[in-house]
Amino acid sequence: MCWICHAKTSHPAAADRPLWSPRRAFLLAAGSAVAAPVLAQVDVGRSSSMRNLVPAEQLEQAAQQQYAQLLAEARAKGLLAGDGNPQLRRLRAIAQRLIPYTAQWNERARNWRWEVNLFNSKSINAFCMPGGKIGFFTGILDQLKLSDDEVAMIMGHEMAHALREHARERLAKTQATGMGLSLAAQLLGWGQIGDVAANLGTQLLTLKYSRDDETEADLVGLEIAARAGYNPQASVSLWQKMMSVKGSQGSASFLSTHPAGPERIQQLQANLPKVQGLYERAPKG
Ligand SMILES: [Zn+2]
Repeated sequence: MCWICHAKTSHPAAADRPLWSPRRAFLLAAGSAVAAPVLAQVDVGRSSSMRNLVPAEQLEQAAQQQYAQLLAEARAKGLLAGDGNPQLRRLRAIAQRLIPYTAQWNERARNWRWEVNLFNSKSINAFCMPGGKIGFFTGILDQLKLSDDEVAMIMGHEMAHALREHARERLAKTQATGMGLSLAAQLLGWGQIGDVAANLGTQLLTLKYSRDDETEADLVGLEIAARAGYNPQASVSLWQKMMSVKGSQGSASFLSTHPAGPERIQQLQANLPKVQGLYERAPKG
């Protein structure tokens, strides 16, 4: 899983849904895989076509509803940063620099309504839901004392999960192997859309990504940030900081899901030369 993306929440209605219908799914499966852009510097190959089992539009719609619910809950508890919050303004400024480089990884992103919000929580956490709904927790900014370059690396990583449709792929694989319940079946026409959104949103927030997905998000995020003028070296310093908080509050999931911290850093270091030129030619903020 992506410990950065992982937000702890649950929905009691998630378990009692009708079963997935593979036949129906395959009838509706269509479309081509998202290829890496021709000019990409990092090598991440093509996305799995299996993700086509889950309609992108409905996944994005469900994410939007879940995101709105999260905002409403946080606002009600006084935990949502207002528009004038300096840290939120900083996050939104960084997002504005990254967004122009997202569509080359996924054409759908041209029509996404990107949003960035800040939750007041000690948790070291951040996420980007399908459709471009971004959340940061104050804990990740404060505890790691992130520079703008490092924030850009995290944001790029999370954007990359959404752009490469890792959630969609993960949900499709879960359904296709018969291990999951009915989320995709509902997407394909069963049940009310409100229920679909609630269940889907729940899964989005508890989704576990593979190590390959994590690597892909690291590299795609690195390239997006470099093109936007953020120093690629920050990807290394970021993960060194992540390593340094091992054992402190909020980092338990890091220990359990990212045992190969040095490997992650080495992989990023190996890719720095590929994006250095992009960074040097990029407009600087
Ligand atoms: Zn991740």
